[in-house]
Amino acid sequence: MNLLFATRNPGKLRELRRLVTGLDVRVVSLDDLPGPIPEVEEDRSTFAENAAKKASEYARAAGMHALADDSGLCIDALWGKPGIRSARWSEDESPGLSGQERDRANNDKLVMVMHGVWPEHRGAEYRAVVALAAPDGTVLASAEGSCRGTIGEAPRGEGGFGYDPYFLPEGAPGKTMAELSAPEKDALSHRGEALRRLLPELRRISANL
Ligand code: IMP
Repeated sequence: MNLLFATRNPGKLRELRRLVTGLDVRVVSLDDLPGPIPEVEEDRSTFAENAAKKASEYARAAGMHALADDSGLCIDALWGKPGIRSARWSEDESPGLSGQERDRANNDKLVMVMHGVWPEHRGAEYRAVVALAAPDGTVLASAEGSCRGTIGEAPRGEGGFGYDPYFLPEGAPGKTMAELSAPEKDALSHRGEALRRLLPELRRISANL
């Protein structure tokens, strides 16, 4: 079974590839496709709706099964923000950035917004929803995962991507997500949990094709 990973985020792509290792699927990325695929606008109001929309539209455009992830950082002291806007949080202050520059601007905003917030109020949660769609765009399955932690004051570590140097997951006391090895991050991350919940369905579908 060909399975399109419907993301242009290299960090997500790396992690999703690791998480389906051992399955009988041939992973295809958007860059592997012969023609250009139009960008899907993430204009829905929940992770679940955005994940379903991305999986469905990319699957139809590519004519193959597609897996999409919509995820983000939800900070308790900000009533769950930036949430679904995590990738574009710094857009107002620093428009037009992409990739690592945008990650950096997002993290600068995180430091600014959390400046002076007491340790007991620095709780946060990563959330992810992964959705799987058939080549005709029908959403076949979706699953969610979360990972609780706190926001650190200074960046630490080189691994992962996005907000990871500032996120200290509960499951690894004293370490940021960026200080964990890849298998350690996968074992406790929101994306790992969501994908593990989706795997039985993915296995069933690939076995019946
Ligand atoms: P999406 O493409 O709208 O799902 O945006 C996801 C954004 O949430 C990323 O660009 C990161 O800013 C953030 N994010 C999601 N998952 C992670 C993670 O595992 N580590 C760090 N940042 C993440």
